Amino acid sequence: MRLVLLGAPGSGKGTQAALLRDELKVPHISTGDLLRAAVKAGTPLGLQARAVMESGRLVSDDIVLGMLEERLAKADIGDGFILDGYPRNLAQCEALEGLLERLDQPLDVALKLEVPAELLVERIAGRAAAEGRRDDTPATVRERLRVYEEQTAPVAGHYEELGKLVIVDGVGEVEDVFRRINAALDAAGSAARLRA
Ligand code: AMP
Repeated sequence: MRLVLLGAPGSGKGTQAALLRDELKVPHISTGDLLRAAVKAGTPLGLQARAVMESGRLVSDDIVLGMLEERLAKADIGDGFILDGYPRNLAQCEALEGLLERLDQPLDVALKLEVPAELLVERIAGRAAAEGRRDDTPATVRERLRVYEEQTAPVAGHYEELGKLVIVDGVGEVEDVFRRINAALDAAGSAARLRA
């Protein structure tokens, strides 16, 4: 199963991706995690990315694509992957398509978690308290939500055109959302088998 998870900051992508990784037994690849690891390691790339991440804007497409390319070159993606936090704009959509085509690993599904804006702010505030992420300050959160609306929201439309978009209601308990995701993936899988 080759899956892209879409959804605003605070929609629960990271949490659900971790559950899906255990269920599907495929790696969870988060570009946010890859970037945070580079920042922590103090690599030149990490140093470059750090200020941008703390501002809530997007790190340059080239940097993120380079990291993703390196990650997808590893053998553990043979049975698929869950991609979380990428693509974040339409240029990244195209880059991903090219990359997966070269790897002969086309995407199966883009799954979008839908959560109303009021709830997103509340959830991110809760996460800031729990995890102490440096980019969860109120100003940064506002900027991340603005960037999401402006650049990332159109990505879902792209996958809808390709017939790969599945939308799941992301409101409620973690376990309930996870059940909805599994049901939606089962339905999408059955539909794909019928078409094949
Ligand atoms: P996340 O953990 O997905 O919320 O990402 C945290 C921050 O990392 C974002 O606010 C961006 O600054 C940066 N980032 C993560 N993924 C991407 C991406 N695909 N393109 C550009 N910047 C990204």
